[in-house]
Amino acid sequence: MPTPSLLILAGDGIGPEVMTEVKKIIGWFGDKRGMAFDVQEDLVGGVAYDAHGTPLHDDTMARAQAADAVLLGAVGGPKYDALDFSVKPERGLLRLRKEMDLFANLRPAQCFDALADFSSLKKDVVAGLDIMIVRELTSGIYFGEPRGIFEERGERVGLNTQRYTEGEIARVARAAFDLARKRSGRVCSMEKANVMESGILWREVVQAVHDADYPDVELSHMYADAGAMQLCRWPKQFDVIVTDNLFGDLLSDAAAMLTGSLGMLPSASLGAPMENGRPKALYEPVHGSAPDIAGQGKANPIACILSFAMALRYSFDMGNEADRLEKAVERVLAEGKRTADLLGGEGVQPVTTSEMGDAVVAALNTSL
Ligand code: NAD
Repeated sequence: MPTPSLLILAGDGIGPEVMTEVKKIIGWFGDKRGMAFDVQEDLVGGVAYDAHGTPLHDDTMARAQAADAVLLGAVGGPKYDALDFSVKPERGLLRLRKEMDLFANLRPAQCFDALADFSSLKKDVVAGLDIMIVRELTSGIYFGEPRGIFEERGERVGLNTQRYTEGEIARVARAAFDLARKRSGRVCSMEKANVMESGILWREVVQAVHDADYPDVELSHMYADAGAMQLCRWPKQFDVIVTDNLFGDLLSDAAAMLTGSLGMLPSASLGAPMENGRPKALYEPVHGSAPDIAGQGKANPIACILSFAMALRYSFDMGNEADRLEKAVERVLAEGKRTADLLGGEGVQPVTTSEMGDAVVAALNTSL
């Protein structure tokens, strides 16, 4: 097998800071577990604009297409706010998602026991929570035509179109079923089949894909509004949730907040399998470039570290090593180590970004 390749795009603000810690971890897996990666680095976002006048150079796009996985830090910052929309840092990220056709967005909502007090929900509702929301990312109402703001009978009308083809639904359903097989084997599909034709088709196609190819996975259906209520009432009833672009946007943000800080949330965006069988894949923390704390050693690197754990699991089929890394993070939190975003009470001294990365490496050492 050729050495798996990883393209690192650290980006702007705290992106390079948190990525420095991930590189320590990648180094650890190379040294201690004999897992070599062909790591390349390039620019995205504001730093790419500074260097090339574009937030994503064509050469970088080509490297991303060729890589087994892309790991991104964050893009954006006040320095670039006045730029034309077409060259804003965020356009670099959107181009990556679009040209790699990353149609399945995976957002885990995982609550480490040590952080259960950070949730706005009761501790017993969230402690040990581990669910995965799979959101369709490249179609639906954010892309459907016709769209626009029109003049009609003397007043303005805003219009967007919810549109899904059978193929678009089937491929994201497959992504969810495949994931469920790597987890506890349950999928709940959410739509609004009671009031939307696109929801009726969604339900039919998900059921058909299940019956044809995934009878071993347990499938249930729920209206998305009821799903939102259930996520707040008893989120642990779910394993994998699959839903469309709009509902997924809302449900994944709500689920994320069950678990506490933005600095803890990883994500993956997956596309179709490449020739080597691996899916096109981009891994990134959910948070942005956090200009308010950039350069101060305050950023929590765990979201980015857990994004690398997702890469181990979903791109490189190294689920055991992903478990090892997630357990190391859990151990560090259980020891009481906290970056500033995770501090609840007075008088607790936060660790720096770098100290948190070192603590995870130390916890990995104890796992051998
Ligand atoms: P943000 O996620 O950067 O920050 C929101 C708040 O959370 C800030 O107070 C920040 O300090 C804190 N925070 C975020 N990540 C943290 C971490 N790892 N550790 C500790 N604290 C953390 O969102 P924002 O302030 O709305 O946006 C800032 C910039 O980032 C903007 O330019 C925005 O467009 C961009 N952005 C980029 C992405 C991305 O790259 N995927 C996502 C969201 C926002």
